[in-house]
Amino acid sequence: MDYPKLNEYHLKLWNDQACGVCQRGPWTPYPPRGPAPNRLCPTWEQHRKISYSAQGWIQAGRTLLEGKLEMEPKFVEYVYECSLCGSCCNSRCVVNGDQVNIIKAWREDLVDLGHGPTEPWKKDAAVIEKGGNRFGRDQKDRAKWAEGMNIPNKGEIVYFAGCVASFRAQELAQSSAKMLKAAGVDFAILGENELCCGNPLDQSGQSKAYKEIAAKNVEAIKAAGAKTVVTSCACCYHNLAVEYPKVLGELPFQVVHQTQIIAEAIRDGKIKPTKGVEGKVTYHDPCHMVRLGSKVYKEPREIIQSVPGIDYKDMHATKRVTQCCGRNPVEQPELSMHTGKDRLQDVRDEGANTVVTACSFCDWNLKRAARNEGDESIKIVDINTFMLETL
Ligand code: SF4
Ligand code: SF4
Repeated sequence: MDYPKLNEYHLKLWNDQACGVCQRGPWTPYPPRGPAPNRLCPTWEQHRKISYSAQGWIQAGRTLLEGKLEMEPKFVEYVYECSLCGSCCNSRCVVNGDQVNIIKAWREDLVDLGHGPTEPWKKDAAVIEKGGNRFGRDQKDRAKWAEGMNIPNKGEIVYFAGCVASFRAQELAQSSAKMLKAAGVDFAILGENELCCGNPLDQSGQSKAYKEIAAKNVEAIKAAGAKTVVTSCACCYHNLAVEYPKVLGELPFQVVHQTQIIAEAIRDGKIKPTKGVEGKVTYHDPCHMVRLGSKVYKEPREIIQSVPGIDYKDMHATKRVTQCCGRNPVEQPELSMHTGKDRLQDVRDEGANTVVTACSFCDWNLKRAARNEGDESIKIVDINTFMLETL
């Protein structure tokens, strides 16, 4: 059987050194410089088996292409175990940062051949196709968070709230809107025309459905007259800024993460935090803001450190070598919980009692992991809500 998309990477699969650096990390040449943090690959951390790491998937992919393996259901499930957090892509090796692309290509082949995706991802696709969002909620309620806020539906700047902030944690969307207003930004929202960014479809290899939903979002943004799209969710940011151009070509608008706008407003003196915060604070870098095509790590720190007298410390796994929050609580619940708990331990290891995030998904996952652990002593807060308390 042919796996044409996986086969595009055959040189890398054959040249893979099976060195294992992708599980535990290289000496990092970028900030923070020095030895890699103890934890990097979340699936390896969960299973403690080489097969559950980029090395394992790459060797398995090569063996499959050599015709020595059959794509049995258990094997299909295995290909859907990786969270695509991209930590392994930091390895400076012959695979050259394509570890995630290889696993995504393999999943696309599995979908095309009728073997994939696995049930949770299939369900995501059905829910998104039916209702336009990943929670099966009525799209008419998508902009309920904005009631009474007087936000237009057309404008040169559009705020794209995303599914989590629109349906599950509306206070995040409200805080984002309040901070944009504090920065003096005139912005619009798409209302029920804003659809899921398509992240679960892209992750699971359902590329046809992904392209369709991406195109609909781009059309809605164009129809609103936007030249700039602002997101406060790292997953939405990654999809709109990095993945959409891969499937749709150059976009007719720019995509920014909200922290980039707020940091500029602080630099320009439009936002001036005046109140301090209690205790030690740290920041969790979302994977999709610092690697896999993005590099937004200075701005969130600039924002947090503008708080008067703040006691701030970075975690060891930070910036490009950040540790994933767990990412897919619905589709990969065990991995998500395990990874989220590890990340909360990183916060404790720094002696911090507040961890700030700049992603609705990270906020959701970390809070879920804390509840599950029965230890909610760490304050987990999104960057906009955190900053509003200091104004
Ligand atoms: S993907 Fe790269 S770092 Fe990982 S085992 Fe292969 S060569 Fe080594
Ligand atoms: S993307 Fe993340 S979970 Fe998947 S193999 Fe790489 S480090 Fe591990």
